[in-house]
Amino acid sequence: MKINKPVLDTQSVVTEWRRHIHAHPETAFEEHQTAAMVARILRELGMEVEEGIGGTGVVGTLKAGTSNRRLGLRADMDALFIHELNELDYRSQVDGKMHACGHDGHTAILLGAAKVLAENPNFDGIIHFIFQPAEETGDEHCGGNAMVKDGLFERYPAESIFALHNMPGLPFGYVAMRSGPMLASIDTFEFKMLSENTHAAAQHSTADPVLAAAQAISACHQFKARYINPADALILTITQVKAGDPLNDRPGVHVGPSEVLVRGTIYTLNEDIRSDVEAGLAKTIKHTAELHGTDYEFSYEYGYPVLQNSPAETQLAAKAATRVVGEENVDADMHPVMGAEDFAFMLKAKPGCYIMLGADGGESGYLPCQLHNPHYDFNDDLIPIGIQYFLNVVDEFFESE
Ligand SMILES: [Zn+2]
Ligand SMILES: [Zn+2]
Repeated sequence: MKINKPVLDTQSVVTEWRRHIHAHPETAFEEHQTAAMVARILRELGMEVEEGIGGTGVVGTLKAGTSNRRLGLRADMDALFIHELNELDYRSQVDGKMHACGHDGHTAILLGAAKVLAENPNFDGIIHFIFQPAEETGDEHCGGNAMVKDGLFERYPAESIFALHNMPGLPFGYVAMRSGPMLASIDTFEFKMLSENTHAAAQHSTADPVLAAAQAISACHQFKARYINPADALILTITQVKAGDPLNDRPGVHVGPSEVLVRGTIYTLNEDIRSDVEAGLAKTIKHTAELHGTDYEFSYEYGYPVLQNSPAETQLAAKAATRVVGEENVDADMHPVMGAEDFAFMLKAKPGCYIMLGADGGESGYLPCQLHNPHYDFNDDLIPIGIQYFLNVVDEFFESE
C-alpha cells in the first residue's frame, strides 16, 4: 500500500466521523443530521457549500490555482431499514435502521479526502464533493436521480465523476472495475389476476385467478428464456405472490380467491432491451388472462439504469488505484455484477467511473459479512486506501489533458 502521511494523519478523525454516522443512521431523504454534519465539516475546511440539492444532498466546492477544469467526487449518505444486531460501542442508536451497506464509510472517506485536499491544495482546478441522499430506494425516486434532476450538473458542471463502494467478498484493498456496463439496471413489475370468489367445489363456474397467475409466472420465465437474446444478461425474479382468501383460515370455509397479486424484479446489462421486456411481459400476461377468462392489471416501473463506466475515466481510475494498492490488486476488466446502483443516473449525465473496493481482511482481521446483513459493519481499515484513491484520482485528472 502506498499511502501518504497527510492521509495517515487524518485516519483517526475520519474513523471517528465514520462511527458517529454509523451510530446515527438516517434513511432515504431523511439524512438531515448527516447532511448537516457533512456541510459543517466542509465549511470548517473553508469550502463553499450548498445544501438541500435533490432533497438532502450536499455539494462542497474546493478551488486551487487558476484552471477552470472541474472534477466531481461522490459519496452516498443513506442507511437502510435493517435492525442492527452488532454489539459495538458505536452501534446504531435507532431501532430498525442501520448503515448496513457502508455508506457511513463512503461519506467519511470523501470527507477525509476533502480535508486532506483543503489542507494541501496541490492541484490546479475545481473539485465538487458531492454527497447524495437515498441511494438505496431501487426506483427512480432515488437520491442520485433527484440531484441530477435538481440541476446538480448545471450548477456544478464536473467534466468527470468518480465514486467507490466497499465490497465484502473481495480481498482487502483489491480494486475492481470495468469500462462499459458494470452493474445492471433494475426494474419492477406487478400484475393481478382478477376474478370472483367461488365455492371451492364450483371453481369450474368462474375463472380461476390462481391457475391464471401460476401459468403467467411460468409464461414470464418462458418469455425470458425463448424471446430474449441469451447473449443479453437478464434476470427475472418473482419476488411476491399474494393469494388466498383469508376466509379459508376458518374451518369449514372452502372458497376460491378473487384475486392474485404477483410482483417481480428485472435486472439487465443491456439498456436497450428494457422496453422489449416491458412489452413482452405485458403481452404474456394479457394473453394468459384471456386464456383463463380473468380480468387483469399490469404495471412496469423503470428503476436505475445500467451503470456504465466510460473508457477514459476507467483508465484513469485504474491508474489511481494502482498507485495505492499495486497492479496485482487491480482488476480493470472485472466481470459485470447483476446488482444495481443509483450512481448510474449520474453516469448517464457525465462520464466517470465507479469502483469496488475489496473489504475482507486488513489489519484488524475484519471478517467478511455481506452488505445489507444485520451483522455487517464497514471495515475502517479501508479509510486510508479510499482517501488515497480519491487523492490519486484528483492528481491524475488535473494532470491529464
Ligand atoms: Zn446497499
Ligand atoms: Zn451501497
